[in-house]
Amino acid sequence: MLTVFMEYKVSPDFIQLYESQMDSVINELKASGASDIQWYRAADQPSLYVECFQVNDQATYDTIKKNRTSLQHPVFSILDECVTGGLEKIHCWAFEKLNTSLNDSYVKQFQDHLLTWYNENKRTLPWRENQDPYRVWVSEIMLQQTRVDTVIPYFERFTQLFPTLQDLAYADEEKVLKAWEGLGYYSRVRNLQTAVKEVCESYGGKVPNTPKEIAGLKGVGPYTAGAVLSIAYGIPEPAVDGNVMRVLSRILLIEEDISKPKTRVLFEKAVRELISHEDPSSFNQALMELGALICTPKSPACLLCPMRELCRGFESGRQAELPVKLGKTKVRKAKMTAGVLLNHDGEILIHKRPSEGLLANMWEFPNTEYVGEHKDAEVEALVGYVQEQTDFGAVVEEKAGYIEHVFSHLKWEIQIWQGKIESEDDLEQLPADWKWVRVDELENYPFPVSHQKIILLIKEALIV
Ligand code: SF4
Repeated sequence: MLTVFMEYKVSPDFIQLYESQMDSVINELKASGASDIQWYRAADQPSLYVECFQVNDQATYDTIKKNRTSLQHPVFSILDECVTGGLEKIHCWAFEKLNTSLNDSYVKQFQDHLLTWYNENKRTLPWRENQDPYRVWVSEIMLQQTRVDTVIPYFERFTQLFPTLQDLAYADEEKVLKAWEGLGYYSRVRNLQTAVKEVCESYGGKVPNTPKEIAGLKGVGPYTAGAVLSIAYGIPEPAVDGNVMRVLSRILLIEEDISKPKTRVLFEKAVRELISHEDPSSFNQALMELGALICTPKSPACLLCPMRELCRGFESGRQAELPVKLGKTKVRKAKMTAGVLLNHDGEILIHKRPSEGLLANMWEFPNTEYVGEHKDAEVEALVGYVQEQTDFGAVVEEKAGYIEHVFSHLKWEIQIWQGKIESEDDLEQLPADWKWVRVDELENYPFPVSHQKIILLIKEALIV
């Protein structure tokens, strides 16, 4: 048995192309008699690679060289090649291993262990009752950034209100937002409604089943496209989200930074190698289920894990260090002041947010950002904001509470004030998107979670 090393220089512009072609190189090498194929990349020179594989004899290697077509591309230049009886050479350099080749028996065991465990342990979830692409789609959108337990009642209510794609496509937007109220990330549901409308108008009401078409729909990223195609249509497409990247980075010992968008491509490639072509639906769901139940973010239950024997992270004792996530998003703190302001009839002033941007079209109590430390700064900013927006003078009387709400990139620290509108004149003449409502009418409007907390304070009679 001989070990072959080949050192390549790849034009920096074509690194991605090179890495995306590795599948075909692997297949070609395997077909020609190579085994145990591995790639290494120079830690300080990303365009310098070493390919390493085993062959039985010199004649096989000569044939491989002669037949090799996949490396005829002009972006590659072979700097060095050598055939040895051992692995010494690679250890001399500062190369990092690229997880590129998964051999057939590993892939088979991976599928067997994962699918057997999944079939015995999967949870009964409402979106698993059937493979209706619309229901799968809704569930996947809801599950982004949201826990399964939270999603279940929302999913049931949402699919009762909008049982078919057509029902959702032509529903009143406010009703749709109301059904989503509390789930957060409201652009998800607005995009979903736009996309199902497009499905009705351009695809005869049938969710498209090709990667290109489905990925062209609004709000459908590579993860959602892969999830719907595999779960609803049984197409072996990867569905890689943060959960799946965590699990696979541990099992395959992938140390790439998962906060970089390009890392997803590496994981998608791994899933393409691993996925069961007989049952891609269960395979993708099983990876997600493993991440939710066993290989959890903080304390992976390795002793209970069906993948333990195959897990390179566990084998090397490094599971707790993975995934590598360097570029965490910075969360900006915003100091907000909000008012529960009444008119002489005891009605409360509310406002609809703009149709673009954060929490678009949701309703809220008047609020604005302020600067300064003293409570006067909070009152002044709130009164000034109401005056500017509505022309009404507000009298802010007492502090009614404090709440915090964290988005992925932003934290609202909201001081809540209670008060009334000074002038009793022309109270009906509110600008568009402002309203007076009674306490019992508040529930007819979609409010974001932060402002629902204010409603809770009102209903508990802590305010008003
Ligand atoms: S063995 Fe541990 S780290 Fe590996 S997949 Fe299972 S739970 Fe995750």
